[in-house]
Amino acid sequence: MNKQTFLAELKSNLEELRKEGVTSPHVLHNVLSETAMKNLSGLWKDSKKAHLGKRRACYFSMEFLIGRSIFNNLLCLGIYSDVEKAFAEAGFSLNDLEAAEDAALGNGGLGRLAACFLDSAATLNLPLDGYGIRYKYGLFKQKIENGFQTEEADNWTKYGDAWSVRHDEDAVEINYSDQKVLAVPYDIPIIGYGAKNIGTLRLWQSEAFEDFDFKLFNDQKYLEASREKVLAEDISRVLYPNDDTREGKKLRLKQQYFFCSASLNDIIKKHKKNHGDIKTLADFVTIQLNDTHPVISIPEIIRLLTQNEGLTFDEAFAMAKKIFNYTNHTIMPEALEKWDESLIKELLPEIYDIIFMINEEYLAEMYRKDIKKESIEVMKIIKGGQVHMANMATYCSSYVNGVAQIHTEILKANTLHDWYTVYPERFQNKTNGITQRRWLALCNRELSALITELLGNEDWVTNLDELKKLTGYADNADIINRFLAIKKTKKEQLAKFILDREGIKIDPDSIFDIQIKRLHEYKRQLLNAFSILWLYFGIKDGSIKDLAPVTFIFGAKSAPGYRRAKAIIKFINEIAAMIEKDDEVNKIIKVVFVSNYNVSYAEKLIAAAEVSEQISTAGTEASGTGNMKLMANGAVTLGTLDGANIEIVEEAGKENNYIFGATVKELEKIMPEYCSRKLAADNEKIRRVIETLVDGTFDDGGSGDFRELYTSLLDGASWHEPDNYYLLGDLESYVEAKLKCNSDYKDKAAFGRKMWLNMCNCGKFSSDRTIADYAENIWKIK
Ligand SMILES: *Cc1c(COP(=O)(O)O)cnc(C)c1O
Repeated sequence: MNKQTFLAELKSNLEELRKEGVTSPHVLHNVLSETAMKNLSGLWKDSKKAHLGKRRACYFSMEFLIGRSIFNNLLCLGIYSDVEKAFAEAGFSLNDLEAAEDAALGNGGLGRLAACFLDSAATLNLPLDGYGIRYKYGLFKQKIENGFQTEEADNWTKYGDAWSVRHDEDAVEINYSDQKVLAVPYDIPIIGYGAKNIGTLRLWQSEAFEDFDFKLFNDQKYLEASREKVLAEDISRVLYPNDDTREGKKLRLKQQYFFCSASLNDIIKKHKKNHGDIKTLADFVTIQLNDTHPVISIPEIIRLLTQNEGLTFDEAFAMAKKIFNYTNHTIMPEALEKWDESLIKELLPEIYDIIFMINEEYLAEMYRKDIKKESIEVMKIIKGGQVHMANMATYCSSYVNGVAQIHTEILKANTLHDWYTVYPERFQNKTNGITQRRWLALCNRELSALITELLGNEDWVTNLDELKKLTGYADNADIINRFLAIKKTKKEQLAKFILDREGIKIDPDSIFDIQIKRLHEYKRQLLNAFSILWLYFGIKDGSIKDLAPVTFIFGAKSAPGYRRAKAIIKFINEIAAMIEKDDEVNKIIKVVFVSNYNVSYAEKLIAAAEVSEQISTAGTEASGTGNMKLMANGAVTLGTLDGANIEIVEEAGKENNYIFGATVKELEKIMPEYCSRKLAADNEKIRRVIETLVDGTFDDGGSGDFRELYTSLLDGASWHEPDNYYLLGDLESYVEAKLKCNSDYKDKAAFGRKMWLNMCNCGKFSSDRTIADYAENIWKIK
């Protein structure tokens, strides 16, 4: 892209808008985006051609949590400051473009990971392209009303979608037993840093073949006339707002098949056009399955290769095994996808037949290998009337990976143990990462400038290990003071944003202790809430003195049907209100639950954070990526030895973080014997805290939900043991760690040193490292 041409065009467009008196940020956003799109189209075309000409990787994912594109794209194109200046000269402010909607086409970590991966691959000049669904409505918008979460539709393209290009020439027909729809692709450019390569995210939109039945309309059957259109568009209408348990059944299966079939058709078509022979497909294409959601791709590619391309089942199956790889993201049994046989048979009869054949193939191979009966049963693809997607994925992939060291070890030892025994060579670890472009360079331009100044160049933007060279400044008072001054600036900016957005005033001189992530029992926001109550009662009874003022900030969406998670949101807001009213405590503790936590909000919260809450029960969080973003911005981790926290502490030093709670090994011993009731009976402070759920301290709106939380902790429920996430067991050591952290904070230099060292040692957690590893050891692409 020619910067001069672009800037000249932009300036002339802005001048025009100025003359017309236009002030709408959406118009400005669209004009800027369109000017950029026009100027990068040549490079994009060349990159697409280059990707198709060689071996390439395709990332199949139900979710891409992109966030806002505009600022990141300006950064990667190397025109951020120029555009900022051009806007100012025309009398506009670039910051106003924060009015642009986030593309929230994902729920949380899994979807954001997919977005970070595309960014890294584009920057590393690796041929990786994403395939997913262009949902009409992204993840719901959250409001907090009277302390309760409410949901609203997220019509993210309301003001247009300047970063997409529709490609009608690549539309694909998708067939279900009861319906036929058209999948139309929209391409989004993924601009590598420095704009030398542009990847493509291809998102499919479902449309009717014929919008409208004219005859029915003439007969005055107006609703009926649009029936086909509505039913077709339903398929890409909404993102399922479940974080890791899956429901919605038939429509969700339709969605999965929809984008998998469309993408595979597209890949095969492009391969034949560029390389002629279908038999070389596996030499040129490798596909990464992001969790089990796209696993229906496996029987679908076999169907396409046998029905359309003349391959035998054996040939097609062998090819599929070469092409696919599977990433597991969770060991939660309820989140391992299973589909009722009857549902697949009904909706996709041909696909069912192929799955059946895969299962037969599996059985034959296991008998050949003389695998013991119990193991064969465990690994079966079809059993108990259901199709087990993780089993199909593992059986039909070249490589299977977990997303942090401990997670991969748990997969090998438990979740996929039998598979590991049969195919140990298939298993790899790929610890997740995050892109430092968005999560440091963009969201913290002040810190980014300091880093660049000290290193003398900006190589760290594409090589995060460079930050290690800054370790020596940890004892340099001037530098640490500048670092802390920047943190203060980011805290002030966040405080202003929260005041504007939520109408809540927070003190930038207090500690910013932040827990931001989807709301889930295993992530234990309730444990954080309990610890705050513990501090509150401690201040009240005088047992806790001299606490440094602290602001606890929560951001989280709950799945709309997840009753306990919603109750926890209300509980946190009740605590916030109680403390706010209490003049003895409200100068020391403040609790804020921010509304509609999303990527753009994350960018502000992360830059301002000092304490990063990563407190999941050991063994439950596969990796976490929020922990990495916070580390890169200098927050210390207050957390358990779970997921990537373990590797974070390995890199940054235990002494620079606050680790507490039972480990995976310890829990294996503890849980079978664990009695939360006895613990609560023996420990007055624990009792005092949990009794607030039922003693009338707080109001759950008469729903009984707080009592249900209480019961789940002490008595369990039909589907789980009492306190199955070990909140009460970890509570005391958690509070201890929190108090230690609070007390350490008072020594600014010493605490600043810890924060600095966390930032210096975050290099491992760049998604550039993760993607280079996938490219070399799984995809074999260059
Ligand atoms: C990074 C990110 C997540 C994942 O956070 P975890 O703490 O790893 O669960 C979720 N949502 C958003 C908006 C993110 O940016």
